[in-house]
Amino acid sequence: MRRTLTELARNPDLISGIYNYCDRWCERCPLSSRCLLYASELEDDDGSPESRDIQNEAFWKKLSSIFRETQGMLKEWADEAGVDLNEIKDEDDLNLRRKRRQADKHALATAGKKYANAASDWFREFDQIEEVSDLAATETEVDEADRLVDAREIIHWYQYQIAVKTIRALSSRFEESEFDEVDDYPRDSDGSAKVALLGIDRSIAAWRLVQMSISERSESIVPLILQLERLRQRTERQFPNARSFVRPGFDEILGPPN
Ligand code: SF4
Repeated sequence: MRRTLTELARNPDLISGIYNYCDRWCERCPLSSRCLLYASELEDDDGSPESRDIQNEAFWKKLSSIFRETQGMLKEWADEAGVDLNEIKDEDDLNLRRKRRQADKHALATAGKKYANAASDWFREFDQIEEVSDLAATETEVDEADRLVDAREIIHWYQYQIAVKTIRALSSRFEESEFDEVDDYPRDSDGSAKVALLGIDRSIAAWRLVQMSISERSESIVPLILQLERLRQRTERQFPNARSFVRPGFDEILGPPN
């Protein structure tokens, strides 16, 4: 029988809030066994192909059932955090939207989106050339082909996430600026910027793998790596405390599971 979120949350090995600062790449996550989000996804996975398909009606039905369950837990969480859920005003909503728009237009966010587009352009062109060379029956070493597949997967995974996490970091920064007096509190802006930075680091490494796999295209990749490197440096300057942000689970020394 399917367990509810509340039942799953009783597992003592779970790391609280681990999913708040991860890259959502559950298939490759080293701590999936300690993540409530992943546990709830597994619980919903009935093994049918449909359950993995985000276009599928079954998926959305399950998602809305999780939403309903979460609603049931909200009051408890709000009470614990001392938050009055009925206090949200229209004005707060407007402020939030204004801050999100500000973040979206920020130079760092624009640079992240530019990188995502440049990466897409590169692969589009590469795939066209590859089609031609496939017809010409060019042979590629098997291990190099595997390396290329891995690298490509990594690049695609982070391609848009870098900008998304940067925008979240900027938007949180705008909100946090109202509470500047709380100095030592771990900031969502730093946590989100750290996730963006890790995505940048991994993307740089992945592009290097692409270079090593197809040396004849090596030069065309240099501008992308430089673009990422500039983005990395600018993000670190904007969020000087991001690298030292401690992400639950990932940046902690963990004891063995119970
Ligand atoms: S912590 Fe790991 S398992 Fe959980 S949502 Fe993030 S990537 Fe997925």
